[in-house]
Amino acid sequence: MNMHADVLFVNAHILSMDKRVPFATALAVRNGRILAMGRDDDLANLKGPHTQVIDVRGRSLLPGFTDSHIHLVAWALQRQRVDLWGVRSLTEALARVQAHAKKTPGKEWVRGGGWDASLWPDLDGQWPTAAHLDAVVPDRPVVLDSKDLHSLWVNSRALRLAGITAQTPDPPGGVIVRDPRTGEPTGILKETARDLVFRLMPPETEETWVRALREGLPALWAEGITAVHVLNDTPTMRNFRVLQRLRETGDLKLRALLYLPAARLDDAIRLGLRSGFGDDRLRIGGVKFFADGTLGSRTAAMLAPFLDDEENTGVWVTDPEELYESVRRASEAGLAVAVHAIGDRANREVMNIFQHIGEEHPERPRPALPHRIEHVQLLHPDDVARVAQLGLVASMQPIHATQDMELARASWGETRSRFAYAWRSVQRAGARLVFGSDAPVEQPSVLAGLHAALTRRRDDGTPGEDGWIPQERMCLRPALHAYTLAPAIVEGSAAWRGSLHPGKVADLIVLSDNLVSVTWEDPMRILDMHVVMTMFNGEIVYTSEE
Ligand SMILES: [Zn+2]
Repeated sequence: MNMHADVLFVNAHILSMDKRVPFATALAVRNGRILAMGRDDDLANLKGPHTQVIDVRGRSLLPGFTDSHIHLVAWALQRQRVDLWGVRSLTEALARVQAHAKKTPGKEWVRGGGWDASLWPDLDGQWPTAAHLDAVVPDRPVVLDSKDLHSLWVNSRALRLAGITAQTPDPPGGVIVRDPRTGEPTGILKETARDLVFRLMPPETEETWVRALREGLPALWAEGITAVHVLNDTPTMRNFRVLQRLRETGDLKLRALLYLPAARLDDAIRLGLRSGFGDDRLRIGGVKFFADGTLGSRTAAMLAPFLDDEENTGVWVTDPEELYESVRRASEAGLAVAVHAIGDRANREVMNIFQHIGEEHPERPRPALPHRIEHVQLLHPDDVARVAQLGLVASMQPIHATQDMELARASWGETRSRFAYAWRSVQRAGARLVFGSDAPVEQPSVLAGLHAALTRRRDDGTPGEDGWIPQERMCLRPALHAYTLAPAIVEGSAAWRGSLHPGKVADLIVLSDNLVSVTWEDPMRILDMHVVMTMFNGEIVYTSEE
């Protein structure tokens, strides 16, 4: 019988992320799985006449990355809309909106997102308004998500269609931003107030979603991502349907763990869906809830008011009593929950909820997967160790720390920020740490995330050599762990993926350099690296130009 490898990697600097494989330079792949690992000489006999030999030239070869917090369809769709990502002025934003409207003539809604008005000097700290948009697109609705997806910027046409006037009350959990003199809506809708417009938007077809995903997957492979945890916030289950369609046609070359939206908790319980159900491509993770809002929108639930907004201690997106009930019901039905918590009060309350549920009925079975907190952005010092004590997964996004640091300083101050984005402390206390991007809130770049986790500096080097809150800088291996093996452990799939070991699936990547020596010399240089090859299930799905 032919036992030759399909693909044989040699001369590689292998970061197996697996203690059982301490050192290897060669890796053989056969039938989608890792056949063997060892030194180049050890594996030479696996090279047959049809084996593809890849000389890695001393660069790093490691397991494919998992992005443990992504809004997969939202990200894929955003790539097809007006992209205000990284736009540096109001003028430029309006130019892009106008250009997109010209390119797509008709009466259809102009949709887009990614804006961050704090970067726009021509607004001088103010929020953008409907009038700004009216000047470029007066005749059809314009709806633009903020970068953090918690605020919506719309034009007057959209406000009129939604019937939002000075008389419209704020919906529970939401804010219609108003002119302080006239009370008229300005064109910014926060949190649940966004639904006043969302519910009018003509639905996109399922085909549009499928196409967006098909076109999006190669962009993930280019970042070395072969698995994702999808934190689904869309109240429809279309996300799930679309992923199943891709899976059926063999196009889901990605391992997706799906969290269902909170609005579907009852349906999930009635159906008897449980965490861990699924196969090697698509599995159910659990149910996603929101405790509070965001730092950027000043809707994070805080123990003390924001320094720059002294009356404001944030918003409960889900009332804690109601959240407790939902988490209890989910947990008893075998569904793990993932709760979005940003502010120190939100994190504390969420941990109290998990603690109560654990103490009330310790005898009851727990879901097959662990509960998790999404973001864990600010912790009170008393709560740092509790994440681990309660057996919770800390799902964090390194890039948020460097993007938010000025905002955090302004609204929380240095002292209260000590345990902001405190991944090192959380992990050292013993919590299971997984890293993600929160795309489309940020770009799904794992190398950019690694850089942020290790340096706590922006790509321009700010705030200086030591980074922001240097005590929370991470070392390379634990940071890589949070992007590889840790997410697989959280999914219950570590037996067959997440690290490089014979028998595991061949989901792996090659980087443009030796990651360990680059990090050793200067971690800022991680930003100069890129992914040169991505293999999914033994198939090379991506190669860069080099
Ligand atoms: Zn998110």
